[in-house]
This record gives sequence, structure tokens and C-alpha cells, in this order.
Amino acid sequence: MHEGFAAGLSGIIPDPDRILTAPAVLERLSHDFYWYSPVLRPQLAPKVGDIVVQTVSVDEVVAVLRYAGQQGVPVTVRGAGTGNCGQSVPLEGGIVLDLSLMDKLEGITPDGVAVCEPGVRMALLETEARKLGWELRMYPSTFNKATLGGFLAGGSAGVGSVTHGSVRDFHTVRAVEVVTMEEEPRVVLLEGDAVHEVLLAWGTNGIITRVWLALTPAVAWTQMAIAFPMFEDAFYFSDMVARVLEWNKRLVTVFEWPLPSFFTPIQALVREGKALVFLMIATAQVAKLRALAESAGGEVTFSGEFEGPRVQPLLSDYIWNHTTLWAMKADPSYTYLQCSFDLSKCIEQSRKLRQRFGEDILFHLEFMKNSYETVIPAGIPVVRFTSEERLNEMIEFCRSIGVLVANPHVNELEGSGRFRPDNLQLEAKQRYDPRGLLNPGKMVSFRVEVPAIANG
Ligand SMILES: Cc1cc2nc3c(=O)[nH]c(=O)nc-3n(C[C@H](O)[C@H](O)[C@H](O)COP(=O)(O)OP(=O)(O)OC[C@H]3O[C@@H](n4cnc5c(N)ncnc54)[C@H](O)[C@@H]3O)c2cc1C
Repeated sequence: MHEGFAAGLSGIIPDPDRILTAPAVLERLSHDFYWYSPVLRPQLAPKVGDIVVQTVSVDEVVAVLRYAGQQGVPVTVRGAGTGNCGQSVPLEGGIVLDLSLMDKLEGITPDGVAVCEPGVRMALLETEARKLGWELRMYPSTFNKATLGGFLAGGSAGVGSVTHGSVRDFHTVRAVEVVTMEEEPRVVLLEGDAVHEVLLAWGTNGIITRVWLALTPAVAWTQMAIAFPMFEDAFYFSDMVARVLEWNKRLVTVFEWPLPSFFTPIQALVREGKALVFLMIATAQVAKLRALAESAGGEVTFSGEFEGPRVQPLLSDYIWNHTTLWAMKADPSYTYLQCSFDLSKCIEQSRKLRQRFGEDILFHLEFMKNSYETVIPAGIPVVRFTSEERLNEMIEFCRSIGVLVANPHVNELEGSGRFRPDNLQLEAKQRYDPRGLLNPGKMVSFRVEVPAIANG
């Protein structure tokens, strides 16, 4: 990046404190939780942006993209940087566009649609929505830090997904406003199915600057922890709660032993040697569920009202990809896979994996609804890393027995399982970022079209 580049930016961003160049800051804001993957760790550690720009308005985003485009400088957008596949790590330097200051909840419509800037923290959204009788349909376990824009572009599912599916499902995202990286950047509104052009596209084909997010009526929830002697008992109980419509639930998670032993702050909820189930269940149904759990051989080790994002114990601090974090704290040789098991064969599949890989794979299931309205056991098993070959062998074996794997050890959309086979995201990139300047290197099927030179 040439020397005058920062000077040019200062004509766009009036506050010099929002143009950051200190090496330690560049290092921090160029990285996310990519280190979750021992494969990505050495690849992404040296990648650093040249400058961080913090915008506060759509006009500033447009001006930064126009300027970067004129100079041929790449732009990688960032929310809170909690992605765990290096989604927001700039592979080719350039500008890191930090949207965390564009964090306003602009309003909630009477029919429950939140209108927000992309940098709004998901926990704040949940808290504000509840004041008006609404709540988020789903949120990641990182909701205290994660931004809405980062979740829609780089996450997938979380608490609530057992009932409401993932960010791509059931028109949860009603519309998004996007700034394009064309020669003259435009602000476009994508509504209805057009939102899929940019959802889960890792900021490779447009910058989301406003979101219309459908909420759901708020429920009084209770968090419950239930210990079962065996993983299979825990699975069958959870499977029933997850799939029977009568149960109004927000979370159904199963951990096999020894995963619960890694959750150091909540050992009072854990029973030595036992599998653990975490639930969020409508408070009105707690007594009935407790009776059912006990009749199935479970011991309810905790039951308490969910009082919001900051009140402990917060079971979401241990679920989805937080489970991996606790495991890695206990033993740095652990890493993870992102899997979907077959509904009717989950136990058979887990037995095959145990037989083949022994204790090098530890089962952690998250029940979620898929786009066909079927509740399936997805999960983030914790696996021991010995070599990349062995990790790939695990992935291949999973696939050979019908367990789907979205590989979190690759730093590109196509391999990660987030790329749409209908090429909607790719076509949007060709339209909105024809020079390939947005988060370059992450959508590997994209090629810059070189105009043909006429003969003669
Ligand atoms: C401990 C832990 C637990 C996690 N649990 C979950 C979970 O439960 N569910 C889940 O889905 N994920 C989970 N994740 C992954 C991650 O936290 C979530 O996906 C989170 O929502 C990302 O939000 P963020 O603001 O940190 O995004 P970032 O990491 O900053 O960005 C993610 C991607 O989105 C792009 N992006 C950011 N903002 C925009 C924008 N405005 N427009 C276009 N592109 C944009 C970035 O370029 C990047 O590619 C977890 C990660 C960790 C480390």
C-alpha cells in the first residue's frame, strides 16, 4: 500500500482515531478465532491488514469502498472477529473495515421485525427485543460479543435453531441493505429470497449495512442441566424433547463424558462419568419435563430461569463452539468438526466413529431444525488433532458413513460448506465485486473476467 493511501482516507473519515495503523492493533483486528484450527493456525497467523478503518455511516462505507476501488486495494469487513475459520482474516492485506461502531438498533416494528445496523451486538438485540415482548429467533453462543452482520455473513445457527433453523431458513432475514464494490459503489436493497446472495458469504460479495430481522414472541425460559448415566440415554431423551412439538424449547444439547469435566466454572452441574444434557425449555413446562427426565433415568442437576445475557450460570457459554473452547483450554491438542448426523442412524454412526477413532472423538450434539422443518442431530464433536492427514481421514470416514461435515479447517467458502450450489453468492460477487477486492481469496470459484482483446 503506497504512502499517500492513509492520507487519502483522512479526507473520508473525519475522525483520525478511526483510522488505525499501530502494528499491535492491526495484528489484533486482522485476526479472529482461526487458531481453533491447527491447520489454519500456521496459514493465517502471518496475514495482517495494512490499515483498519472504522466507519460510522453508510455514506462512509460507500466512500471507503469507492476510494479503495480506485486504488485497487482489497477490503475485508469485520464485526467482532469471533469467526472460527479465519473468515475475517485479510489474506491480501489492504483495509480491514471494522463495522463495530455501526451498532444501532433503529427500531422494532409492531409485527416484530428489528431494523438494525450490522454492528449491533446480538445480546443487546435480545435484551431490547424482550422489553417489547419479542426475542431473537436464534443467536450464536458468542452473542455477548458477536455482531448481527458477522453472524449473518459468517455464522450459521445457535440457541433457538432447534425451533427456528439457521440464518438461511424461514425468512428470518427479511431484507438487507448492501454496499457493492462496483466501480461506483451502490447501496442496494435485497429483499425476500434475494438476501441469500450475501448471507453466509463471508463479506466476499457486499457489505451489509442494514438488516431487517424477524423476531419471535418472547417466552419465559428455564435453563436445565440433566445428567444421564450413558450418552445413549441422554441422546434418546434429548431426541424426544427436540422432536416432539409439544415441548416449547430453545436449546437441546448433549455432551458425552468427559466433555462436561472441561466446564470448570459449572462443575456443580456436572456428575462424574455421566453425559450431560442442556436445555432451554418454556418455564411453564419445567415440572412436566423434570418428571419425564427422572423417569428416563436422568438427574436434574440445575434448573433456573433464563434472566438474560449477563446472568450466570449462562448455559450458552458451554454450547455450540464454546464446547470446543473449554476442551482446548483443558487440552490444547483438541480441535473440532462441524457435523450433521443422520436422524435415524445417529447412534449407529457414533458407534462406528467410536470403533474407528476411539476416544479421539468426543460427541457433542446440537439439535436443530433444517430447512425441511425436520429436527436433526447436528453437532460439533471435539476431536484430538495429531496430524492433518488423520483429521482428513476422520472427515472422510464421517462422510463415508453418511455424517455430513462442514469442514472448519479450510479458509474458503466452497470447502467450508457455506457455498450455495446454485451459485447465487458467486453470481452476486461477479455483479457486485467484479474486480475481486472484497475479502479476496475466500471465494475460490470466483475469477476476475479479463476483457478479450480484439485481434489485429
Ligand atoms: C467460542 C465460539 C463460539 C461460537 N459459537 C457459534 C454459534 O453458536 N453459532 C455460530 O453460528 N457461530 C458460532 N461461532 C462463530 C462466530 O462467533 C459467529 O459466527 C459470530 O456470529 C460471528 O460474528 P462476528 O461479529 O464476530 O463476525 P466476524 O468474525 O467479525 O465476521 C464473520 C464473517 O462475516 C463477515 N462480515 C462481518 N460483518 C459483515 C457485514 N456487515 N457485511 C458482510 N460481511 C460481514 C466477515 O468478513 C467474516 O467473513 C463461535 C465462535 C467462537 C469462537
